[in-house]
Amino acid sequence: MTAAATGTAPRTASFGLPGGALVAGAWQTAGLTVAVSDPHDGTPVGWVARNDAADVDAAVRAAARAAAEPWPLWQRREALDEAARIVRDELPWLAGIISTEGSKTITEAEQEVRRCAETLRLSAAAGPVLRGEVLEFDDSDRGAGKRGWFVRAPLGVVAAITPFNDPLNLVAHKVGPALIAGNGVVVKPAEATPHSALALAEILLRAGVPPARLAVVCGDGATGHALVTHAGVDVVSFTGGPVTAARIAAAAGPKKLLMELGGNNPVIVCGDADLDAAADAIVRGAFGCAGQNCLSVQRVYADASIHDALLTRITAGTRALKVGPKTDRTTGVGPMIGEAEAARVEAWVDAALAGGARAHTGARRDGAYYHPTVLTGVPADADVLVREVFGPVVTVVPVESAAAAVAAANSAQALHAGVFTGGLDEALSIADRLHAGAVVVNGTSDLRIDSMPFGGFKSSGIGREGVRFAVAAMSEPRCTIIAGGPQHQSTVNRTQ
Ligand code: NAP
Repeated sequence: MTAAATGTAPRTASFGLPGGALVAGAWQTAGLTVAVSDPHDGTPVGWVARNDAADVDAAVRAAARAAAEPWPLWQRREALDEAARIVRDELPWLAGIISTEGSKTITEAEQEVRRCAETLRLSAAAGPVLRGEVLEFDDSDRGAGKRGWFVRAPLGVVAAITPFNDPLNLVAHKVGPALIAGNGVVVKPAEATPHSALALAEILLRAGVPPARLAVVCGDGATGHALVTHAGVDVVSFTGGPVTAARIAAAAGPKKLLMELGGNNPVIVCGDADLDAAADAIVRGAFGCAGQNCLSVQRVYADASIHDALLTRITAGTRALKVGPKTDRTTGVGPMIGEAEAARVEAWVDAALAGGARAHTGARRDGAYYHPTVLTGVPADADVLVREVFGPVVTVVPVESAAAAVAAANSAQALHAGVFTGGLDEALSIADRLHAGAVVVNGTSDLRIDSMPFGGFKSSGIGREGVRFAVAAMSEPRCTIIAGGPQHQSTVNRTQ
């Protein structure tokens, strides 16, 4: 990634933050050895800590101690509501951080800040998820005479491992639910974009979150490894790629694992679809955030009868996108997170072209910028078709029938999918057959409302985020049973 422990710039906390890590309730202001760079040209823009296993240990222990202290639900709710308000007020500051250290344009960054405020607001409102039930013990012989209930109790310490592409809102999607559920939480943000997470932590503390309940440890995969393998961590909530997911699953030991992973997302366009609307949505869904989006449109299956007309529209829409600086509000596509990532995408596209594919636009790299690319004729086994590209590349494929489109769409694991058609029956029939966490009718895969259950099947994830669903995942039922006297107990299995 773009961060590196190099350079001679003053190693002080950046972006007006109080420190370059938050460990055991204290901001770390010394030992900020990791430079964070602007992907645009690699210029260092800030410095953070490289937290080692000892720091991680201190953060986890403090979070566990803090989580054992009383912090009533009403105070948790008020703190998260207040944090949502501050995030809205601090929109320019937060969007500036996201857009400077990350690869989003300023417009995309502002949208992420608004969504972060919404995620925190939804978290504040999610307390009722913790409600329990009275247990129906008298529905069983052995339960006769007993009374009881359960509530949802926090798990303890949540390890939140987050990626670079939504560096603020994806942190909020873990921290908000973890806190409202009553947990402590230790965040390990992506090495490329740690300041966004640090800024959110600063706001949460300002809003009244007890300092040691929340930590942000900075560093690379080694810091993440120390966190997920720590015995004091009770649940690992990870968002990132499948390779890292496999490493975490192998290393973490017996802990609850929640995983939000990638997808190779298809969109099906039927012969009766509104082609202008479909093309417009596909261009936005494929190239927003320079394609570095787990919901990005990667494969388009177009009915043969409209394939050429759709391709013409998609190509025209793509050519109209301005590739340029993130600060320019007319920019449609900014840089990728680093030159190495852009070079990887370039290599995948070049391999497809060498195998007979045709680029209708794009297929060109300038440093960390990869120009939005529309491909046809891609070999069936090309990386751009079978793996998650996570870059600004879309492939259009003609299909002869809806059944063929569904089969092709299901040939790779999607997180979300989309279908464009004028017919409701056709839409629902296709939606029922697609293997994806959500199917969007007359929209693309690139749609997430922060309150919905969000996640995928198989290699796209384990469990669901979306605030209420994350609160449920970060808590478990805890029963209280009033056993009653012997006169009430059954004669069957009395001692068990
Ligand atoms: P990544 O390389 O898997 O990294 C994700 C996080 O894991 C980073 O903080 C990373 O640290 C950390 N990490 C790396 N090795 C680790 C280890 N051994 N133990 C613990 N943590 C470790 O993913 P990325 O490149 O940042 O993000 C892209 C991927 O995320 C794509 O596949 C995308 O689809 C997926 N994604 C999914 C969703 C979703 O909600 N489903 C949302 C966004 C992104 P470093 O950064 O320091 O390496």
